[in-house]
Amino acid sequence: MKLAVPAETGTDERRVALTPPQVAELVGQGFEVTIQSQAGARAGFHDEAYLAAGAAIANDHAQTVAAADLVVRLEPPSIDQVGDLPEGSTLISFIWPKRSPELVEALRARGVTTLAEDCVPRITTAQKLDALSSMANLSGYRAVLEAASALPSFFSLQMTAAGRINPATVLVIGAGVAGLAAIGAARGLGARVRAFDTREASRDEVKSLGADFLDLDFEEDGDGGGGYAKVMSPAFIEAEMALFREQAKEVDVVITTALVPGNKAPLLWDKGMVESMKPGSVVVDLAAHQGGNCECTVAGESVDVGGVTVIGYTDLASRMAPTASTLYGGNILHFIKELGGNDGFSIDLDNPITRGALVTHKGEVMWPAPKPEPRPAPKPAAAVAQAASATTAAAKAPAAKPKKKSGHGHGGHAAPASEPSSGWLAPLIGVILLGVWAYLRFGPWQGSSVSVEAREFVQHLTVFVLACFVGWQVVWSVTAALHTPLMSVTNAISGIIIVGGLLEGARGGSLDVAMVLGLAATLLATINIAGGFLVTHRMLRMFRR
Ligand code: NAD
Repeated sequence: MKLAVPAETGTDERRVALTPPQVAELVGQGFEVTIQSQAGARAGFHDEAYLAAGAAIANDHAQTVAAADLVVRLEPPSIDQVGDLPEGSTLISFIWPKRSPELVEALRARGVTTLAEDCVPRITTAQKLDALSSMANLSGYRAVLEAASALPSFFSLQMTAAGRINPATVLVIGAGVAGLAAIGAARGLGARVRAFDTREASRDEVKSLGADFLDLDFEEDGDGGGGYAKVMSPAFIEAEMALFREQAKEVDVVITTALVPGNKAPLLWDKGMVESMKPGSVVVDLAAHQGGNCECTVAGESVDVGGVTVIGYTDLASRMAPTASTLYGGNILHFIKELGGNDGFSIDLDNPITRGALVTHKGEVMWPAPKPEPRPAPKPAAAVAQAASATTAAAKAPAAKPKKKSGHGHGGHAAPASEPSSGWLAPLIGVILLGVWAYLRFGPWQGSSVSVEAREFVQHLTVFVLACFVGWQVVWSVTAALHTPLMSVTNAISGIIIVGGLLEGARGGSLDVAMVLGLAATLLATINIAGGFLVTHRMLRMFRR
């Protein structure tokens, strides 16, 4: 297959769709790659590197794509560039079909098969080719760096001989991919971080990164299904803004990332809030390209509003062009693999990823794809955690509307799927124990010579049955998030098994079944403990810098 990589044309666009090592990988798979001259130069990837990777260099857009079967790029092509694409070729790129119906029509009329990176469905199997997430991750991180460089103070607590400087307080609005990346970066720099999102499911993610989740006393679930947010009611937005109005006086940095797919960004930070912020504070509006969450945002610019810096850059990922290109190219490689690679390239309409991303195909507009299956509702465990959590702002949240006792989102849930279905377990164990005790106490052999052996046998059998039972419940019914603490408990149990196994296995005398079993138990328990240590060690290594 012939694959073409045109140069991006936007003035702020420094990224390129494939890096030289990725081109080399595709050439190795049998692709013939042509790249437009200087396409990677602004990301630090020069023509020589592409030549060395096995690509051909073409002078302009028309020449680059002239014979292409597959064209990969970042930004959508212009209508003029669509005219250069060969009929029947496939284009993978950001398209934003809702914003550009003329472009979609031009691609359809040209007979191009268009796969939009921005339409890749949010399903687990699509994560590796989801460029929106890769770029949002970079943007969230970069937003914090922009804020830190504009803030005339430290992000972290400073104890110096000259005095103490408190850490910056950062508020992140919207805890999707970009918001979570921003929280991680701000925490990494030592700031105190608060966050808010309309999706209840994001609460645990925020807290797991060490930030506080702001409570809003208003019952409305923001989950629009499939991981997407939904447009909130005006009353909710009003209550949310009242919460932020209080926050505005306290925080040093606000990073807004709130978006609802296919809609204008909600206005959440008005001019009054900007004016009430401390002088020198910073607002970074990651929703600037969708109209902005902040009333003072100027898309693509950084403006001073009465001493507060409001940053509305729309090229945050592009400011980290080499890394952004590497990640985007990685997404493209996975996309090409999903489509069958060089040997089996095809558009499979039954593949949910391909179908979701498909915008035009065989002269037809295929967008929007049928809606993806909604994701299961957030686990009630999160709601329990919510009830237990309290943040500094909670007390200040306006009581916009009394909480309803609804069966949705908060309280009043059925048992979560991951919880052990143990309602019947405790009574059952109680009945078994009672039965065994009664059998031993009042059984027909009382006083006979058989009674001691029988009693021991039944005791051992009881312990064995209960151990199997409890072990089965513990291993299969404990939620995955608790497997690490569970491991510690099983290690402790294994320690007891080793003591028992050694007592039995090394009691001397001739070898019998009990000794063999004791030694085997010692061996298995030792493997469990050593394995536990190894796994823990590996996990800890992941967190070591
Ligand atoms: P996004 O960029 O569309 O929106 C950013 C965040 O803004 C979202 O979390 C949204 O809930 C929030 N928001 C919207 N309105 C708000 C308001 N009024 N106030 C406060 N916050 C508001 O979202 P995203 O970053 O693309 O991801 C959203 C969800 O989808 C996340 O849970 C993410 O993990 C999930 N996701 C899954 C996949 C996948 O499985 N392949 C890929 C990407 C994202």
